This record gives sequence, C-alpha cells and structure tokens, in this order.
Amino acid sequence: MCGIIAGISNPIAPILLEGLKRVEYRGYDSVGIATVSDGKILMKKDVGRIEALEAKYAVSTMPGSVGIAHTRWATHGGVTTANAHPHLSCDESIAVVHNGIIENYLELRSTLAKRGHVFRSETDTEVIAHLIEQASKRERDPLQATLKALKRVKGQYAVVVMFAHHPDLLIGARNDAPLVVGLGKREFFLASDVLAFISRTDRAVFLENMDVACISPRGLKVYNMQGKEVKRKVTQLAWELADVSKQDFAHYTLKEIHEQPETVQRAMLQDPRKLEAFASAIRNAGTVLLTASGSSFHAALLLKGRLNREAKVRCDAVLAGEFDHQAHFVDKDTVMIAFSQSGETADVLEAVKRGREAGARILAVVNAVGSTLARESDSVLLLNCGPEVGVAATKSFTAQVMVGNMIADAVLGRRTVGDPKKLAGQVEETLESEATIKDVALRFRDRPDFYFIARGPHYPVAQEGALKLKELSYIHAEGIPASELKHGTLALIEKGTPVVVIARSGDGFDAIISNATELKARGAEIIGVSDVEHPVFSYRVPIPSCNESVSPVLEVIPLQLLAYHMAVSRSNDPDYPRNLAKSVTVR
Ligand code: GLU
Repeated sequence: MCGIIAGISNPIAPILLEGLKRVEYRGYDSVGIATVSDGKILMKKDVGRIEALEAKYAVSTMPGSVGIAHTRWATHGGVTTANAHPHLSCDESIAVVHNGIIENYLELRSTLAKRGHVFRSETDTEVIAHLIEQASKRERDPLQATLKALKRVKGQYAVVVMFAHHPDLLIGARNDAPLVVGLGKREFFLASDVLAFISRTDRAVFLENMDVACISPRGLKVYNMQGKEVKRKVTQLAWELADVSKQDFAHYTLKEIHEQPETVQRAMLQDPRKLEAFASAIRNAGTVLLTASGSSFHAALLLKGRLNREAKVRCDAVLAGEFDHQAHFVDKDTVMIAFSQSGETADVLEAVKRGREAGARILAVVNAVGSTLARESDSVLLLNCGPEVGVAATKSFTAQVMVGNMIADAVLGRRTVGDPKKLAGQVEETLESEATIKDVALRFRDRPDFYFIARGPHYPVAQEGALKLKELSYIHAEGIPASELKHGTLALIEKGTPVVVIARSGDGFDAIISNATELKARGAEIIGVSDVEHPVFSYRVPIPSCNESVSPVLEVIPLQLLAYHMAVSRSNDPDYPRNLAKSVTVR
C-alpha cells in the first residue's frame, strides 16, 4: 500500500521529496530515495517519516536527474532500514521500489540464492532487483531484461526500476496495483497517485494491468508483457488536486471534516442521466449486491437499508474481502455496486473481478477519477469531494451517503434528496458542536472501551463512529444495534463506561432512550447525539432536525470530531494512524 514517486527532471531529488509527502497517506513506516549520478546509484533510506530522513541526510540536494522514491507500509519483513525501499541488485547497478506483494518470493529467493545472489533485506520486493540483474547477464537491453524478470513474478505489484548504466531511463510496470505516468514539459514521472506529481503537470496516463512503461527525456513508451508497443490515452486531470495544503488547520483530518458543508453539496452534483442509468439497472436487476470495505461499507449499508425499506428492492451488502464466501448467488441478473474512495482497494477490485466473471453488471461509486475501479465499471458516479489525505475517511463517507441517497431516490422516482444549500447549513450547524465534543474527549480520553449504539437506519452510523475511534484514538470501540445489547454486550458495561447513543427524534426514539436508560442504570455515561434534549444524556451533542435520509450525515460528523479530538488529546497523529494506510492496495 506504499507510495511511489519516480521521475526524470533536473534536479530530481526535491521533486521526489515533495511528491513523497503527497503520497505519504499510502504508507509511512519507512522511507527511501535513490538517484543516479556519475554512473552510480546514490541511496538514502530509514525507518520513520520523510521529515526525519530529511533531517538526518541532505536528501534534497542529492545530485541526479533520474530518481525513485518510496514510502513503505510493510507487508513482508519488519520495519527496519534494511527493509525500506529502494532495494538494490548485488552489484548495486539496479534499484527498485515496489507496491504490493510478490507471492512466489520465497521460491524465487532460494533459486536466486543458489545462483549466488546475496540478499540484504527480508522483503519480497528485493527479488525483483536480483531477477533483473540475473536476466541482464544474457539480455543487455534493460526493457527486455525487466520483461524477462517480471514474467517469473507472481502477485500484485506496481514497480519502478532504475539502472546505473542507463542513467536516463526508468521502467515502471503494474499488475493489480496503481501506477500512473505524469507527462510534464521535458519531465516525466511514474507514481502511485497523480497527487504525487500534480504540482508539476496535469497530464497523466493511467497504466493498465500488465503494462510496462519506459520514460526517458524523449518521452513515454508503453509496452505489453510481450514487449509489443501499445497506445494509452492521455488524461487531462481536472479537480482541484493541486490544493492539498492543510490551510489553517492543524491536521488534514480536521480540515477534511470542516470541508463537509461544501463536499456534501458537491456530492449532490450528479448527472441525472447517470443516476437514471443506476436506477434502471437496480430496478431491472434480479438481485442487487453492494460491496465495499471499511467506512465505504457503512455507507453501502445505509443504501442497502433504503433500497430494502423504501424501494422493496432485494438487496444485500457483502464486505469485499468476504465476497468469496458470501456471494455465491451472483449471476448475470445481479447488479453489483462497489463503493470505494480510492478506487484502488484490492479487496473491492477482486470482488468486482469475481462478480464480472459471474456475469454481473458492475456499477461504482468512487472518488478518484482515473482509478482502476472507475475504469473497470460499466457505470460510475463520482463523489466529487476532492482529494482526501487523512487516512481515516471523513468527507468521502458523507459524500458516499449522499450519493447513495441520490441513487435510492432515483430508484423511488424522486428527483432530488432536497436542497444542497440547506444541507450545507445543517452541516455547518453540526460542526458548531466541536467545543462540546472536545470536552467529551477530554473527559473520556483514558477510558479503555467505548460503545456506540443506534437502531434501524442509524446502526451503520454507530459502526462508523466506532471505526473512527479505533482508527484515530486506538481505543477499543464497538458499534452495535441497541436491540442487541441484552444479548451480550450489556455484560461489559460498568461504572463510567462511555456509550454514544444516536437518538434522532421520531420513529425508534422511545426505544433507544429505553436502552440508554438501561445502560445508565448499570453505570454507563450516556453521550447523546440527538436533535432533542433528554435527561438520560450526561452530555448532549446537538444536531439539527432534518429528514431521515440525510440524518446519518449529521450524526456522523460529531463522531468524526470525537475520534479526532480523542486522538489529539492522547497525542496520536490523527492524519497517520499507526499500522494503517489509506489506500488498502494489498489483500
Ligand atoms: N511487500 C513490500 C514490502 O513489504 C511492499 C509493501 C508496500 O506496498 O509498501 O516492503
């Protein structure tokens, strides 16, 4: 799930460092950079963040006009300097950075070791450098040697290779992991995400699986695995990608939470014809299956609820990673709707691939325009919420809820879910509860467990609140339907246990208040997220009254703020939670 940026420009090092910071959300346990200068590969790498590498070594002044850089999210081998990328061949003339997993690396490693290759790391990645070195003994052309090496590799990868003896060349290849080419003015880039080079160029080529791209000062050439040249189209990048500054906010996560008055409105800017295409596919489907992972799955659950309850559509939601075990009914009469912020989530892409093999029609709700999911789906609705840098999903979740609402309304034959301006005002009003939430965070920051309860359509919001808290504060949290309390979880409640109760007035209010009262009687401290006051609440986080379908948007915002302030009060970095990465590109 790492971030790769590589390129050709003079000097390259400062561009790589800036690009690395923009893809750091993809992984951040260690970092490395290498350039070619005077026929030699120069390399610096270390555990920790980019700033630490910059403080330790003069990396920004590394000479050379060709370079590769990587920010790692370890899969194979611990977080050590030796395991950080780039990785070198024995003679140090070939350097590689890699995102993904080489499944047959143990077998390749032992074959290569028998041929005298000496390994310096425990990673799966290092075999690629040695395989190319081995292939180069018979094949002097670096492209042919790389192709020969890649043919022996099984697994998922985006890889970029640099050669000391071909100092104006970079070779990139991908299979089930993202890699994009940036075409600038006499400068060229290869990266995991367009964000890495967007400040240099807005022209990109999204590589396809099994593409091999060569960049040099003369430009880009793309080949297939057989070495035959193929044509790929240039995409003009639009959205305000270049603006990924924190502005005046302490963290990206906080900035992104506060962007929501704007982003919920932008999510509602959908082409009516595309919405109608989604709606008619759903109406005509034998079965509708929603699939996603993490926060996106909670948004999918909200849509599932509306399609079931209001449109009486036979609809199920399956976690993408569980697809193989729970989606055997998928066939040519199935419409699958995949939700993903990045459009690169490996579990989701795999589920979609399986669905397609079974004959299903694939629809996608996605934020990243040129992503694999967007390209591989029959129809796409975009979230339009701009780049989300914070690892924990915030504005992308509320955008997904609104796009889901628009899909449900289109199926129901209603044209709109309401006035975007009014919703933006309600989101603004909800954000005003931040001071109360800070107090709650300070009061409960040392508690080991948190519970979030809700009923019916609000239950996915409780799950999302618990997920946010786990991700950012590292506190154990569970989101459960209030109806399930008596079937087990109530046994865990003791004096002072904080329970967030999502209690919107209207249907189900009395029932959830009864549950809150039962919890309070057992010592729980009730934090009510509600449009009305009630004596059972020890704290109340007010949300405006609104219609049922937009209520999840207003309910989740206080939970995002709670997770954020809890993290800050516990001295965690909310933008880069430990062990996580934003775009989960490994399965
Ligand atoms: N499997 C490689 C490693 O553990 C790459 C992981 C990544 O994508 O960051 O180093």
